[in-house]
Amino acid sequence: MKRQSKNICKWFHCCPLKRFYEEGRLDKKWVEDYCWSNNPDCVRKKMEEKGQYHPDNMMPDGTIDEDMV
Ligand code: SF4
Repeated sequence: MKRQSKNICKWFHCCPLKRFYEEGRLDKKWVEDYCWSNNPDCVRKKMEEKGQYHPDNMMPDGTIDEDMV
């Protein structure tokens, strides 16, 4: 738990991936590799910070997961 709060992405509280994960629908690797690692390579993060639209079902690597709605 400590690791989660230390390196957590600042957008996690309002990111749809948090909800998908909490609903048990998202592979944990996404939150571990990106959200809980505050990974600067997250495409969602980059687009968020530029104010660019990105759909809720876009994964941190920019791929679209059609199962996530
Ligand atoms: S998906 Fe990206 S923007 Fe969303 S919480 Fe994870 S690292 Fe942050």
